Amino acid sequence: MSDAREFLEHLRVLIVDDQPFVRSSIANTLGRLGVGDVVMTADGDQALEVLKDDAKSVDLVFCDLQMPGRDGIEVLRDLVELQPDAGVVLMSGEDVEVLHAADNLAKERGLRVLGSLEKPVSAADIKSMLVKVQDERTPNRAGPITDVTVDDLRNAIDNGNILPFFQPKVRLAEGSLESVEALARWIHPQHGIISPIVFIPMAEDNGLIDALTDAVMSQAFDQGKQWAEVNLAPQIAVNLSVLSLDRLELPDQILNAAATAGLEAPQVVLEITESRISEDPSALLDIITRFRLKRFELSIDDFGTGFSSLQQLQRLPFSELKIDQAFVMGASNNATAQSILESSISLAKKLNLRIVAEGVESREDWDLISRLGCDLAQGYLVAKPMPGNEIPAWHESWLKQGSQPV
Ligand code: C2E
Ligand code: CA
Ligand code: CA
Repeated sequence: MSDAREFLEHLRVLIVDDQPFVRSSIANTLGRLGVGDVVMTADGDQALEVLKDDAKSVDLVFCDLQMPGRDGIEVLRDLVELQPDAGVVLMSGEDVEVLHAADNLAKERGLRVLGSLEKPVSAADIKSMLVKVQDERTPNRAGPITDVTVDDLRNAIDNGNILPFFQPKVRLAEGSLESVEALARWIHPQHGIISPIVFIPMAEDNGLIDALTDAVMSQAFDQGKQWAEVNLAPQIAVNLSVLSLDRLELPDQILNAAATAGLEAPQVVLEITESRISEDPSALLDIITRFRLKRFELSIDDFGTGFSSLQQLQRLPFSELKIDQAFVMGASNNATAQSILESSISLAKKLNLRIVAEGVESREDWDLISRLGCDLAQGYLVAKPMPGNEIPAWHESWLKQGSQPV
């Protein structure tokens, strides 16, 4: 097991927030990122109980400011007394001024404030808080979240050790295989399979993301060619970092790579994460519009976790919307998640977008998104990401079970 995985597995995180949906969505994300121990509390009183019980075991606290009963400022007071070593992340739906003031206060009291986040808190925010806490705890490591170096990553890209796994997206109505998403994996001689959550940010921070994207994409297209030989022709979806979207030659380059593998542009889906899109929308508009001109499918990824979603949706010519798994997983017994699902779906329908729900893990959630009118489902209930050569056998067995989850 890698050091990073081990670190996260032993991390104890306390979430203090009176909104059940916020709590469970943060907990979900932490779980996905590999955090082993997450405690949820609904207010400062409950948090105090947890701290009194065993304060020293708490490594990191996500704390809402505005709560009935004991509020966030009071929780900070308790932390100073009981566990000043914990990392603290402040969260607020109030205006930024309040957040800044609380941030200053906490620092003045000697707490280790890792960040203050405006709500809604995105998965990317949570991820960066975990990176920070780990960097603080183990300052002498070479890389940002695991003990691999940038050179290791560069070599891995050059030597073909970064390769795509593939996860199916199926039509909810007929169950037919529509598309497969290429998800990068680093096959490491010592650490085994390393998650993209670890090395994508590393590639982005060190000028390696273009090379990585090219490597993943060319292998994915190549795989598409091999599937065609056994009469499988799903769309192939690849994830594009927003950082790559300043290469004006990119649309042509992708078109060439696809053509070499015998793929037409409409068979290629480019997934772009929404939270990143807001960084510099005008510079992206050119390249994104040209993707559509060349008839690639364009997918807005992780929908619901970013900030300026509605405005972006209107400006940018997307063809698919992927609802973030935080709103899908367990939605069948979560009223707030359901209303977010409903409004996202009705918005997407008005804009004529194909709707994908990701993170479908249970039959109940499958039935719900199906009833609400999603087009495609992706998630462990259908299949986990797998090596490309396993897709045909998976497809056989999916057909055998009637193209429906069992
Ligand atoms: P994403 O694009 O949102 O991909 C979906 C992630 O959710 C994948 O994680 C997938 O394995 C996971 N997932 C799918 N269904 C389920 C489910 O039912 N339950 C749970 N718990 N998880 C599910 P993965 O493969 O670890 O990828 C993480 C992220 O890394 C991706 O999120 C994407 O943003 C990024 N990424 C992966 N490959 C690439 C790449 O080639 N280029 C770029 N730029 N980013 C990549
Ligand atoms: Ca994606
Ligand atoms: Ca996603």
